[in-house]
Amino acid sequence: MTRRRSWAEPWKIKVVEPIRMTTRGEREAAIREAGYNTFLLRAEECYIDLLTDSGTSAMSDRQWAGMMLGDESYAGSRNFYALQDAVRTYYGYEHLIPAHQGRGAEHILSQVVIKDGDFIPGNMYFTTTRLHQELAGGTFRDVIIDEAHDPASEKAFKGDVDLAKLRALVDEVGAERVPYITVGVTVNLAGGQPVSMANLSEVAAYCREHGILVILDATRAVENAYFIQQREDGYAQKSVARILREMCDLSDGATMSGKKDSLVNIGGWLGVRDPQIAERARNLVVVYEGLHTYGGMAGRDMEAMARGIVESVDDDHIRARIGQVEYLGNALIAGGVPIVRPIGGHAVFLDAAAMLPNLPRDAFPAQALAAALYVESGIRSMERGAVSAGRDPTTGEHRFPALELVRLTIPRRVYTQAHMDVVAESVLEVLEQRDRMRGLAFSYEPEHLRFFQARFETFGGDGIFA
Ligand SMILES: *Cc1c(COP(=O)(O)O)cnc(C)c1O
Repeated sequence: MTRRRSWAEPWKIKVVEPIRMTTRGEREAAIREAGYNTFLLRAEECYIDLLTDSGTSAMSDRQWAGMMLGDESYAGSRNFYALQDAVRTYYGYEHLIPAHQGRGAEHILSQVVIKDGDFIPGNMYFTTTRLHQELAGGTFRDVIIDEAHDPASEKAFKGDVDLAKLRALVDEVGAERVPYITVGVTVNLAGGQPVSMANLSEVAAYCREHGILVILDATRAVENAYFIQQREDGYAQKSVARILREMCDLSDGATMSGKKDSLVNIGGWLGVRDPQIAERARNLVVVYEGLHTYGGMAGRDMEAMARGIVESVDDDHIRARIGQVEYLGNALIAGGVPIVRPIGGHAVFLDAAAMLPNLPRDAFPAQALAAALYVESGIRSMERGAVSAGRDPTTGEHRFPALELVRLTIPRRVYTQAHMDVVAESVLEVLEQRDRMRGLAFSYEPEHLRFFQARFETFGGDGIFA
């Protein structure tokens, strides 16, 4: 008989931050005050905060030590060169353009490469990425495989690009109107689903033939590399660091939010190989972000990210990080909660459409479910459905994506297994009360990225539970 041998987190806790449970009455008042939008809650009103894994990671003692070594010179800070070395070593891009966070890099890239009337394919949209492409005069086209839109499909690499869809777009508009493809690794809005190395190679070969650049959204590329190691033939014996480099070597550049994989609270970058694109990006970065050797980051932030990159590719770290997400996902599956399968890298996604079949899509079931989970337990999550998808720029109608999800996003190195148990129990509790839940209607709808600041009213009475 083989005895069970558990693994545990490859760190111990040196500093703690107290958190406080609120009363149900306090939470009912807080969510009403926040217009039923979890983004508008105060963090102090949240018990376990799973809004996002963005910038919420715990830094290591080595990263904090690096903060004290910040070289805050305006130009040519030593920490910039440390970051450049880390990016060159682990991601392999020759030219590093630093940015205050991921969307800063997306903005610069979009303005440099997209011309009015261009089309930019991508394996499912990401909110800020698509908006920057649209603001630069481009039109986004989704070329992800169909299975990505099916929460129940168990396909191992649900983030893959559908080559037939990519070819159809290029045949339709001509390769000269497709400056690049964005390949998200992993695909956030599909549920943290990875792209296989085989698919990435095929995309790269096709794009090279047609003069189309391959740009990775490398925000969670380390998590993607881990899934390749675990699931793709021939990679089990390779380190995550080596797989990451192999992925990046198939691309021409990447935009990066250091706030995810890289274990820092702020920062990002654009990495490219082409010296001309790099030059144009450096010309623009001084307009929008800061000098090309800091791009909106303090020296100490660049040092923390340089060190975070090294820690992020450690095999023990990434196994524990994704292992915690899987632990929560498996607890929910065991309890009969419909979630996106397979379990993704950074979050567990509740299938709100399946959980709340009585609420129509235009009553925003995922937004309502996030509010209900907060009232029930103090846990903060995020809507990833029609509210996040926004309106179609040409028709002005709501976009109703196939997936109507609530995201429970796990910050890195922050919560313990006991917190995950509380989360799973709370979701089960809400599931039992689903018949009492009310739908939502907009009372304020912002023009851009509406999910961040939108406000809602419940209909059929006051309060998310009848
Ligand atoms: C967070 C994120 C971005 C944007 O990065 P910010 O640092 O938040 O500006 C881009 N793409 C993906 C997939 C992300 O998750």
